[in-house]
Amino acid sequence: MHPRTLKKFSALAAAALLALSAFAQDAAPPRPGEPPASSAAAAVTAASSPAAATPLARLPYTPVLDVTAMDRSADPCVDFFQYSCGGWQKNNPIPPDQARWDVYAKMEQDNRRVLWGILDRLSTQATGRTVPQQKIGDAFAACTNEALTQRLGAKPMKPELELIDGMKSKKDLPSVLAALQLNSGDDGLFFSFGSAQDYADSSRVIAFATQGGLGMPDRDYYLKTDAKSKELRDKYVLHVQHMFQLMGDSEADATAHAATVMSMETALAKGSMTLVDQRDPRKLFHPANERKLQALTPAFDWKSYLVGMGVSGNDRYNVSQPKFFQTLDFQLRMRTLEEVKTYLRWHVAHVSAPFLSKPFVDENFDYYRKTLRGVTEVAPLWQRCVVLVDNQIGEALGEEFVKENFSPELKAKTLHMTQQIQAAMESEIKNLDWMGPQTKAKALEKLHGMVNKIGYPDKWRDYSALEIKRDDLLGNVQRGDAFEARRQLAKIGKPVDHSEWGMTPPTVNAYYDGQMNDINFPAGVLQPPLFDSRLDDAPNYGNTGGTIGHELTHGFDDEGRQFDAKGNLRNWWTKKDADEFEKRTTCLTDQYGKYIVVDDVHINSKLTLGEDLADFGGLVLALIAWKAELVTHPAPASIDGFTPDQRFFIGMAQWACSNDRPEQLRLNAATNPHSPNKYRVNGLVANFKEFEQAFACKPGQPMAPVKRCQVW
Ligand SMILES: [Zn+2]
Repeated sequence: MHPRTLKKFSALAAAALLALSAFAQDAAPPRPGEPPASSAAAAVTAASSPAAATPLARLPYTPVLDVTAMDRSADPCVDFFQYSCGGWQKNNPIPPDQARWDVYAKMEQDNRRVLWGILDRLSTQATGRTVPQQKIGDAFAACTNEALTQRLGAKPMKPELELIDGMKSKKDLPSVLAALQLNSGDDGLFFSFGSAQDYADSSRVIAFATQGGLGMPDRDYYLKTDAKSKELRDKYVLHVQHMFQLMGDSEADATAHAATVMSMETALAKGSMTLVDQRDPRKLFHPANERKLQALTPAFDWKSYLVGMGVSGNDRYNVSQPKFFQTLDFQLRMRTLEEVKTYLRWHVAHVSAPFLSKPFVDENFDYYRKTLRGVTEVAPLWQRCVVLVDNQIGEALGEEFVKENFSPELKAKTLHMTQQIQAAMESEIKNLDWMGPQTKAKALEKLHGMVNKIGYPDKWRDYSALEIKRDDLLGNVQRGDAFEARRQLAKIGKPVDHSEWGMTPPTVNAYYDGQMNDINFPAGVLQPPLFDSRLDDAPNYGNTGGTIGHELTHGFDDEGRQFDAKGNLRNWWTKKDADEFEKRTTCLTDQYGKYIVVDDVHINSKLTLGEDLADFGGLVLALIAWKAELVTHPAPASIDGFTPDQRFFIGMAQWACSNDRPEQLRLNAATNPHSPNKYRVNGLVANFKEFEQAFACKPGQPMAPVKRCQVW
């Protein structure tokens, strides 16, 4: 989680999306218009400029087991990641506009180039466009009209700044804040307000109020005392100051305003919950009626705020972090009207910057991409615009994408594999020696209740109410955010729509949603080199089989296991079985906590536990499923000199081939719930006796430790 890429408005709902790849889920999600994170091994420089890219008519092919990606001079028993991915690392330097570069990122980039071709055509086509085609074509046209964006400068955010300026007293804040929040889709304006399934009754949707209000990626950035954290804070204050200067403030005023912002955000950070605590859904569940909500924050008039949001008349809310809202209340009481205005101005400029003229884009890039992630170049405009359209009108774009790139055969194959993985889980649960019959029965009930969604939604989202203009980039972005916010809020009080997707079809990622109890595989992730129908089964089961198993296991990880078959937060474990489970997970937190991410920063293995568990379970299940497939489809004894077992493990490892910039690694260590890819391979195979046997490792070698962890 805290990937918050999708369902941006409802941070909590997004928090429930537990995805596979580290790529698509930076803690500081890409704003529309800003490409997702990537990273910077400073030593690695790009072979070709991203600006030189061209649109693609179709996706390129790379095999699921790529021998040229390997480094066969490495010993698989010493460093399996190097052995499987050493060649890839050498051949794939990080492009200057990316924070990291890996198999997923590369596929995502290829997908974007295909989408670029589609959007390029639809943005210029004069006649014969359907309504959805018109929306995405015009949105792309507005976004790529660089001359107009330059000419307008800061002007597009003038209406919002005037709204702030017009506040006569702090009593005006609730209605102004509602208007700004609707238009921004960001949790940076004091807090976030959206909808999600009730933890106590997943069949109904209620309103959620969630902590927010920060400009840096996480509360820890404000509070940690080490030298690097201090440096990042100093640079942040300078960045905020520069943004005020770009808005026309004098240097002296801008300096004072930046100090105000820092002081307010630091106070809010102190009242915020840590990412590790947020992994426990029980800590995030505090139902309240409107009276209770109001009592929590006497200085903030919820009534006028809710009217502004268009959601009055409900009487059930979840306040995810009550302490945060008390802190917010204190801030609102203590701060002057001018200070509140200053804070709002900064956040409006911050969310608008990627869609304004070059000075704003560059200043925003300089802190968020360069300082925090080590990226050296702003991504080309076409790329930022493809990401924007995918973020805001993604299902209309996805509809075009799947026409060319997702066949019924592919869907059938994936479904077959998924069913095998589910069968594997069933036998695994039945055979577990540490789980009692009572818990097993409930686990099976949950497994049988799980729904698979593959490729794309059955019914496409209707965007006809969304107004898109060819000459109003920031306006389109704001209307797009408001459209999504209202769509989320309109769910309150209605039955849950189980057909809905939280990722768009071209997305190279997958997720499990604990409250929907469903696993979701967009068309974008079911492509070579992850899923390759031209090659043998072994690497396919290692790779995509492992991914399916990974998502399925999220239903039973430290967080997912707390929800029952219907997605309700309800304990279905006996005390003894829960203790046994935790004992086994402690082995994993101890193991991963020893690995170093960058400099002296270790993996925060309590944050990564859910993902490490999912990787572990995923591989267990993929192995069982593959062995089952072998019964009817025997594997050739050897291909390219590798046994089937070896091909299974190499295929598994090659999803993770990557290069990382140290800045990005540091940011991930603080906020990403996934371990670095190297350890998602090496830490994983070290726990499998089957790996030791496949590569004839000697017991005691790094990838064949004598003591192993075993959960499933
Ligand atoms: Zn995951």
